Amino acid sequence: MNAGAYGGEIKDVLVSCQYLDENLNIVVKTKEELKFGYRDSLFIHNPNYVVLTAVFKLNPGIEDAIDIKMKENMLARKTKQPLELPNAGSTFRRPEGYFVGKLISDAGLKGYTIGSAAVSEKHTGFIVNTGNATCKDVKMLVSYIEEVVKEKFNVELKPEIEFIGRNI
Ligand SMILES: Cc1cc2nc3c(=O)[nH]c(=O)nc-3n(C[C@H](O)[C@H](O)[C@H](O)COP(=O)(O)OP(=O)(O)OC[C@H]3O[C@@H](n4cnc5c(N)ncnc54)[C@H](O)[C@@H]3O)c2cc1C
Repeated sequence: MNAGAYGGEIKDVLVSCQYLDENLNIVVKTKEELKFGYRDSLFIHNPNYVVLTAVFKLNPGIEDAIDIKMKENMLARKTKQPLELPNAGSTFRRPEGYFVGKLISDAGLKGYTIGSAAVSEKHTGFIVNTGNATCKDVKMLVSYIEEVVKEKFNVELKPEIEFIGRNI
């Protein structure tokens, strides 16, 4: 999915990747061939591919400076994200020109709860499990948020989290 945060993405350090395709061929592709985009890559469009190995090239830097940057990023996560409750990370993709958290807060949905799934009070871009949330609770909450944000701001939110399985 080309995970990324705080100005960096996996594609920035990836050189190539080896995967198994749907015909059980082992294929090697370079970063350029893997068609990376925002939370996007060849693998998103080919869910049957299985990544086997990957080659990364890290950028050399000064050890102390790297250490400080890692601590800053970790602090930012701990301060801004609801890591104390189970969650699936950032729920929606960033729509161009908007911030998801602000849209959801401005829609009055901070803390909105269905079953045990709640819009986090700490960061409205996250859905947290406050007890025994079911997949159905989370899916209903995702749909409700999409509906309200569309109605209030005419912005279509698309989930970043992935739902696996059918008829949940
Ligand atoms: C608190 C929190 C904060 C987060 N913050 C961010 C963030 O800032 N930025 C960001 O980008 N993401 C963020 N995430 C999301 C996180 O990066 C992804 O959920 C994570 O990368 C998924 O990896 P996994 O191995 O845990 O999941 P898995 O469920 O194992 O895999 C996720 C997807 O990859 C596929 N997959 C797994 N293994 C392979 C393989 N070998 N070959 C091919 N496909 C495979 C699966 O089929 C699935 O579609 C956050 C998540 C949490 C919980």
